[in-house]
Amino acid sequence: MARLSAEEDEIVRLVAQFVDDRVRPVARELEHADTYPEDLIAGMKEMGVFGLAIDPPYGDFSVSTACYAMVTEELARGWMSLAGAFGGHSVVSKLLLRFGTEAQRERYLPRMATGELRATMALTEPGGGSDLQAIRTVARRDGEGDGAGWRVNGTKTWISNARRSGLVALLCKTDPAADPPHRGISILLAEKGPGFEVSKDLPKLGYKGVESCELHFDDYRAPTDAILGDVPGRGFSQMMAGLEVGRIQVAARALGVARAAFEDALQYAQDRHSFGKPIWEHQSIGNYLADMATRIEAARQLTLHAAECFDSGERADLEAGMAKLFASEMAATVTLDALRIHGGHGYSTEFDVERYFRDAPLMIVGEGTNEIQRTVIARGLVRRARLRRPDR
Ligand SMILES: Cc1cc2nc3c(=O)[nH]c(=O)nc-3n(C[C@H](O)[C@H](O)[C@H](O)COP(=O)(O)OP(=O)(O)OC[C@H]3O[C@@H](n4cnc5c(N)ncnc54)[C@H](O)[C@@H]3O)c2cc1C
Repeated sequence: MARLSAEEDEIVRLVAQFVDDRVRPVARELEHADTYPEDLIAGMKEMGVFGLAIDPPYGDFSVSTACYAMVTEELARGWMSLAGAFGGHSVVSKLLLRFGTEAQRERYLPRMATGELRATMALTEPGGGSDLQAIRTVARRDGEGDGAGWRVNGTKTWISNARRSGLVALLCKTDPAADPPHRGISILLAEKGPGFEVSKDLPKLGYKGVESCELHFDDYRAPTDAILGDVPGRGFSQMMAGLEVGRIQVAARALGVARAAFEDALQYAQDRHSFGKPIWEHQSIGNYLADMATRIEAARQLTLHAAECFDSGERADLEAGMAKLFASEMAATVTLDALRIHGGHGYSTEFDVERYFRDAPLMIVGEGTNEIQRTVIARGLVRRARLRRPDR
């Protein structure tokens, strides 16, 4: 079990209070109206949430990944969209910290830590999000001397927070002929400008209030030093490392949604009576509650374990993949069971369970689908087995 410092415990408690006082009372209405939660995001900025993954000297303080996951869980317990609003932002923060040049870190991280500058990552394209080596967005060298830079063309889709992000970590090909293709992939730090259009807002089942957009690059120009780390061709492995924290965040989001569903169901099962007793006393309902709580706890342990592995500096793709896979499937099951426990009310838009049920599947798809997670996990298992038995 991850142990948080006293200061980290206090941060999680503060965020939990914010969720109870300010988020839960308004989430249903904002969600149904698909309204961007301006005030709540401002509250998150005040609490320093956008800087939690940014170490000093760029941010005021940073916390362990376990604390970051528990803050994410709390926010998602209130409304998953709030946790989603800083998921990509944290991945970009970690990418800059780990791979950025000093100039890139200084340019972006202090403003990202306060939330003044928001960031997102753009990987997925209309042609597919799983096969990232097949992306078609291309950045070509353009101009000479002082006018040298990159000229970018292509389309990205499903990019979260794109309208409100001033920085996009854009996965693109700087050498489309490279073999294998991943050697020709780079991350371009794209700021808004001529030729970069947020072309469409995509309608969706859940994750409402926060925008998911299509981006269009039409001869967009970026300076030569816009490549993360300044060396082209490293973007694929950089992004895979960044996705480790992204997957831990998605697992924590799933935990938050599942916990909200469980807590509502636990209360409802005590308040609602049938056949002369509270429904939790019917064995079927009691069993649901027992299974829900057990699954949530198992997912939490996997998530915190992945967080600790990530902080140890070792490769954590296997642990992050396991946490994301298990927690997201768990959330889909638990939210459906919460809906069952609520009977007809579970299907009502006057209760929150229908929102949890709509929000949960995103975690199955986002940050790499669960089919892809299984591939990541299987590869990790074989890699580690070979490392243990180099003779075989
Ligand atoms: C609300 C929302 C927000 C998102 N936010 C972002 C964002 O901010 N940035 C971003 O870049 N993307 C974002 N995405 C995109 C998301 O990451 C992709 O949808 C996801 O990676 C899957 O890509 P795809 O939709 O193109 O599915 P596809 O890649 O077309 O896959 C379709 C199906 O085939 C399966 N499949 C594909 N290849 C394999 C394989 N090799 N083995 C087994 N099964 C396979 C998949 O698992 C899936 O079931 C978001 C998506 C949603 C819905």
